[in-house]
Amino acid sequence: SVIARLSAPHVGPVPFSVEFFPPKDQAGEERLWRAVRVFEQLRPAFASLTYGAGGTSRDRTVRIAGEMARETTLTTVAHLTAVNHSIDELRALVGSYADQGITNILALRGDPPGDPLGEWTKHPEGVAYAEELVRLVDELGDFEVGVASFPEGHHRAPDLEEDTRNLVAKLRAGAEYSITQMFFRVDDYLRLRDRVVAADPEQGAKPIIPGIMPITSLASVRRMMELSGSTMPSDLDERLARAAGNDEAANRDAIRAVGIDIATEIAERLIAEGAPCLHFCSLNFAKATGEVLQRLGMDALVA
Ligand code: FAD
Repeated sequence: SVIARLSAPHVGPVPFSVEFFPPKDQAGEERLWRAVRVFEQLRPAFASLTYGAGGTSRDRTVRIAGEMARETTLTTVAHLTAVNHSIDELRALVGSYADQGITNILALRGDPPGDPLGEWTKHPEGVAYAEELVRLVDELGDFEVGVASFPEGHHRAPDLEEDTRNLVAKLRAGAEYSITQMFFRVDDYLRLRDRVVAADPEQGAKPIIPGIMPITSLASVRRMMELSGSTMPSDLDERLARAAGNDEAANRDAIRAVGIDIATEIAERLIAEGAPCLHFCSLNFAKATGEVLQRLGMDALVA
């Protein structure tokens, strides 16, 4: 279980975890497995695998999550979203995770396929909110369920109070922990934690695992921020823009170096503030996250 793994022995001041996505093709899958094998040696608390927004990658998520659970030593967390699924289909999916030995599920509502910021419509026989998915998964068996949390507030929540109420509702429904959307302002994470504790001390005791993404490309981080409705602090954006100069392609190494500096600074502050774990969005590459871990003294290979 994720909760048990958070208090298991680890290298460095806090455990870390890593997020992968199901690749589209064979080359992508080979890259994924290379990254998985490198991370495996660094002994993360857990590894999570995202669930495709569109539909085509869904079978792949189930298959690859099963392979990760069976063929590696990683505690595997499979993401699951409610998009375009009836409750019957969701039940069957949870069943196929269970058949593959997966007991850790991150329950998400998901975004509308195509335009993540577009209008969300519930499947006529599906669920409307992640909270319902948490209950559904919980009643289907012996699963440990996690949910998403949003340091800047979810882009559809009218304000932070409502956003906090929703997170607390998901935790009360049975989620044991949350993983945050990646962010660049540590204060936003700390304020989220304070809000949840103030709203419900019992639920506030559950781990809020911060999501960190070491930036390796300016264009892709800007796009990712746009798609998730979050923002980059202007000082960080300026540092990256300075590294990029007027030729992003030619200055890739400089951007990457700044991206690794930024991720390390964020991680150091999170550690000082008592974060329970650092969750790295690897984009299926081990190198950038590996460098951050090394700088933090959390790299089992060099320890
Ligand atoms: P919910 O908790 O259901 O919230 C959705 C919105 O509804 C919020 O604005 C909330 O405030 C509001 N709300 C909730 N309950 C109520 C209510 N009762 N009444 C009124 N409003 C309500 N997407 C993928 O497609 N695949 C993935 O694998 C994936 N992994 C992710 C991992 C992490 C760590 C994070 C942070 C996000 C991930 N996402 C993924 C994106 C996620 O699906 C979207 O951010 C989605 O928009 C919100 O999902 P949720 O589970 O937080 O939704």
